[in-house]
Amino acid sequence: MTPAAFAELDLGALEHNLSRLREAAPRAKVMAVIKANAYGHGMVRVASALPTADAFAVARLDEGVALREAGIRQRIVVLQGFICPEELELHARFDLEPVIHSVHQIDLLEQHPPRDTRLGAWVKLDTGMHRLGLDPAEFRDCYQRLSGNVHLKDPLPIMTHLANADVVTDTTTERQLAVFNGVASDPVERVAANSAGLLAWPASHAEWVRPGLALYGVSPFPFRSGAKDGFRPVMTLKTRLIAIKNLRRGDPVGYGGDWICPHPTRMGIASIGYGDGYPRSAASGTPVLVNEQSAPLIGRVSMDMITVDLTEHPQAHVGDTVTLWGQGLPVEEVARHANTIPYVLLCNVTQRVRMIEQR
Ligand SMILES: *Cc1c(COP(=O)(O)O)cnc(C)c1O
Repeated sequence: MTPAAFAELDLGALEHNLSRLREAAPRAKVMAVIKANAYGHGMVRVASALPTADAFAVARLDEGVALREAGIRQRIVVLQGFICPEELELHARFDLEPVIHSVHQIDLLEQHPPRDTRLGAWVKLDTGMHRLGLDPAEFRDCYQRLSGNVHLKDPLPIMTHLANADVVTDTTTERQLAVFNGVASDPVERVAANSAGLLAWPASHAEWVRPGLALYGVSPFPFRSGAKDGFRPVMTLKTRLIAIKNLRRGDPVGYGGDWICPHPTRMGIASIGYGDGYPRSAASGTPVLVNEQSAPLIGRVSMDMITVDLTEHPQAHVGDTVTLWGQGLPVEEVARHANTIPYVLLCNVTQRVRMIEQR
């Protein structure tokens, strides 16, 4: 039995994209961001396919533990760090490097020092995103407190996160970097750049860079695509046509009858829907590929199916392949039609979609 909806994962594209990123930031080490199941691609799978990454970053402790349990040996940074002594101890036990972003965490470190090991940790400065990170006004004191802690490795690297690096005309990034450089001028290792910082803001490169989305071959910039910038999409989401119908002018299609055929329409039904992670917000007109040729979505996306206009594709028939995004159809473009961002589309692919690895 062939799976209806499946995602082909071009694992070779990961190392290709990593080397493209290294070309863009030749002096920086790369911390590959593989949080949220590697943006839907499979965390352990992606980590295993990136043997040359200098480190990995995940959002949460359980993600780091899962990587260690799967035998991943590179350095692993946990972006949210710990909030209690048990989580602190687990970082030590699994050799995970927490990000220390709050005074609460510094207190915990002093009250419950990790046993039998010196923990690698990263200190996060809030340069203006106002999510995680120490305030610039408290940073020096905090950093000194941490530097005096014999349970931590020395010297402590420093990080920050950019709030708007994908908007290349906005000055927020410059202001954030000025704050970062003002506080983190000591000769310690630093990291600031996400994918957009890495690609658009060379001043953000520092000793490390921290890309996520671009590793998967996808552009962080609105109105661009990774494929046009020399990246290769890792995920190509596909299904097949399961029925074809000829409709008359005026026939409504799908739930709510939102789409009304403006002319006699050859309509294809493809086996994928929001139950697979294809966005319900995809509007009529969103492109799909039928046998590698573009055809527009018509009507509402339902849980298990979508409907497409095949009037211009008289040769298409039941069983033919339908591509929703990936090779030949950038997920960035689909995201625009669905009024969302490619991050969301990739993360939302559900368990029902069979993952097929390709090398
Ligand atoms: C997710 C994340 C990244 C990676 O961002 P991309 O835009 O996917 O490159 C980097 N740093 C932090 C703190 C993150 O949360």
